[in-house]
Amino acid sequence: STPVATFCALLKAARIGLLIKGGDVLEALAKTRVVAFDKTGTITKGEFKVVEFQSISSKVSLEMLLYWVSSIESKSSHPMAAALVEHARSHSIEPKPDSVKEFHIYPGEGIYGEVDGRNIHIGNKRIAARVLCETVPNMEDMKEGVTYGYVFLDMVPVGTYALSDTCRIGAAEAIKELKSLGIKTAMLTGDSMEASLHAQRQLNHVVEEVHAELLPEDKVQLIGKLKSREGSTAMVGDGMNDAPALAMADVGISMGVSGSAVAMETSHITLMSNDIRKIPRAIRLARKTRRMII
Ligand code: ADP
Ligand code: MG
Repeated sequence: STPVATFCALLKAARIGLLIKGGDVLEALAKTRVVAFDKTGTITKGEFKVVEFQSISSKVSLEMLLYWVSSIESKSSHPMAAALVEHARSHSIEPKPDSVKEFHIYPGEGIYGEVDGRNIHIGNKRIAARVLCETVPNMEDMKEGVTYGYVFLDMVPVGTYALSDTCRIGAAEAIKELKSLGIKTAMLTGDSMEASLHAQRQLNHVVEEVHAELLPEDKVQLIGKLKSREGSTAMVGDGMNDAPALAMADVGISMGVSGSAVAMETSHITLMSNDIRKIPRAIRLARKTRRMII
């Protein structure tokens, strides 16, 4: 290969905000057949707003609920946790992380914590099923495009909430451009099918495959399947429950601004600006460089 062409391409990429770990990565990128995107924080901004938060128990005040939830969620770096903490503050409730004696994160489900001797579980249908030892049906009056959550106090349901997020500017454009390069696209998420289909509608249904309600290990398996079915697969994520999937992909691409340090370590490319429109640009650059080399 010509080292100069590769060097120039890596420099050019860096100038537009793409840190590519080396010439091998550039070659792998040129061969990409599929780009799989994490949803939360990658296709969407990962800036959730609380659109509903209520106590469903006469024994639990909204204030108590906000205090428990925000204290436990202040231990988590999940984007939904940040929204719940913010919501408590907007009701003048200050979270007390020190009051949380024990806590446990269930990836793709939610969080458990012990506060003032009470056991609190917070999260999605999966955590509800874990607490109730039974599958939980969707709520009947569900709003479109929001993610529902449940709060349990000593294994009893005491609260519900709903969160919403919006797609990043340029996300639809980036995915359309990948399509025009003959690349297949997929969305992978631990979030609900309803929230995923809402994002898909915001994107004018441009994503070819939507896979929702995945656990971190399901994401790894799916990347494996895409690799064997379609060929060279790139995965874009922020490292929140998707670092193993980033590592499994032929090319792992991490979000630089919002992404975790683990994501940057396990990935081959870091998007310094969080702008996913840089991905089709990088693929074009990689293809051009390969043509020069061959
Ligand atoms: P994604 O693939 O979209 O990044 P995650 O795997 O991080 O999603 O999470 C999947 C789901 O698990 C979320 O949609 C949420 O319902 C629930 N969840 C995860 N972490 C938390 C948390 N700290 N608090 C509440 N819910 C959570
Ligand atoms: Mg994520």
